[in-house]
Order: sequence, then structure tokens, then C-alpha cells
Amino acid sequence: HPEDTRITVYGGDGQPRSVGAGTLAVIAGPCSVENREQIVSVARKIQQAGAGFLRGGAFKPRTSPYSFQGLGCEGLDLLMEAKRETGLPVVTELMAIHQLEVFDGVDIIQIGARNMQNFTLLRELGRCRKPVLLKRGLASTVSELLMAAEYIMAGGNENIILCERGIRSFDNYTRNTLDLSAVPFLKKKSHLPVIVDPSHGTGINWLVPAMAKAAVAAGADGLIIEVHNDPENALSDGEQSLTPEEFSSLMDSIGKYAAME
Ligand code: PEP
Ligand code: MN
Repeated sequence: HPEDTRITVYGGDGQPRSVGAGTLAVIAGPCSVENREQIVSVARKIQQAGAGFLRGGAFKPRTSPYSFQGLGCEGLDLLMEAKRETGLPVVTELMAIHQLEVFDGVDIIQIGARNMQNFTLLRELGRCRKPVLLKRGLASTVSELLMAAEYIMAGGNENIILCERGIRSFDNYTRNTLDLSAVPFLKKKSHLPVIVDPSHGTGINWLVPAMAKAAVAAGADGLIIEVHNDPENALSDGEQSLTPEEFSSLMDSIGKYAAME
């Protein structure tokens, strides 16, 4: 395949931040944006710990229609506020194409596991030029993930980040089974950056640091990690979220696991 792709975004402060081709990109933040205080304080803390990108869901693909669905447009406004306060580029999930109208300030569009094979959506994303973080489907093979990326690239948008976030297996001691051999495999087959989500990959907060380090050792170009200021009272995915303090100690220890060529 051609040279490894590097994707660069500029955030709110005009500073370049890259994913791919030799950098380690760390995206962190809560599963869902819940209120101003939460998103701004988490953004500040993950930035202090060394994260380069802020994540936070405004439109949430919840299993139950009675669970918290995200703050929608208000959540996006709060993300923009956190971006202004910190300069961090923002990553958030798009669930339907009409939401693009309100995604102007979003730096990287996340396509969640449940939409990985929404081919109409993928084709539309091919027509825009914003970077797309494409998560592996809950029960999708690695070649289906690559073909999903191909749908976006076929339209001319090659700014895609692949994300291994765990798949369904027979064992349920973890929420999903994190398939770390997908990382070197995808990197061999594709020029696209590959990142790992150990939060959804395990579903258990104390397993996150070990799997984050393992992902980096396996050659991942980055991580996406859920961090919450009060995990016990989080409106989604609290059980797999790190506190800012736990995230900070993970960041302190991560560099030495970087894969050696
Ligand atoms: C998320 O990142 O919060 C999320 C819903 O992820 P996934 O699509 O991988 O389940
Ligand atoms: Mn989540």
C-alpha cells in the first residue's frame, strides 16, 4: 500500500495535531457530554495529562430507547465551549447525515460501531473532507471494516482513522473481546492510521490501562479512552470510564510501551 496516511487537524488554537505515521494520538473524554461543568473540567484535565484530542458524545446510539440519548445540539455547543477553553480538537459521533449541518466545529467525525456498515452514510461522508474515525462493527470482520473505509475513500475522502473497539465473542467476562492482533494486521494491509478503544473493548475500567499499553505495544497509532469526572454517576458507560487521575497515571506510563520497529 502507499505511504502511511497522516491526518492533521488544527483544533481551536490553530496548533497542528496529527494521527498516524509515527505519532501517538490520544483522544480522551466522557462517553456522553452531560453538562458544561463536566465537559470543560474533563477537557482541562485530559489536556493537562497530555491528551491531544477531546471526545464526547452528543448524539448517542443507546441500546435502549429509554436510556439517556445525549444532549444533541446542546451537547455540541458544550463541546465547542470546551474546544474554545482548551484549544483541543473535538471528536464526536455522527448518527445521521443531516447532523452534518451542525458539525461545522467538529474536527473528527466518529462513525460508531453500529453504523459501520451504513453504506448510505459512508458514501455521504466520502463527499466531505473532514477526517472520519471509523469504529469496527460489533460483529464485523477486519475485511468488512476495510471495505467500509473503502466506501468513504471511493468518494474521495481518504482522511480515515480505523478503530478496533472489540467484537462480540462467546465469552462475556468483558463487554467485548478486544482483538489486538487486528492492529498490526490492519497496519500491514492498509495505509490508514489504526487506533484502539480499550474502554468499549473491555467495558471494565480497571482493565483499560493494561489494554491501552498492550495496544501501544502492538503498534497502534493512538487510543480513544473514556474519562469521566464522576464515573459512578455517569449517564453512560461509567463502569468503563477512568477518572482524570487514573487517566493521568496511564499517560505517565504509556510512552515506554511504544512498539519498536
Ligand atoms: C462511544 O464511543 O461512546 C461508542 C458508542 O462507541 P461504539 O460505537 O464503539 O460502541
Ligand atoms: Mn461509550
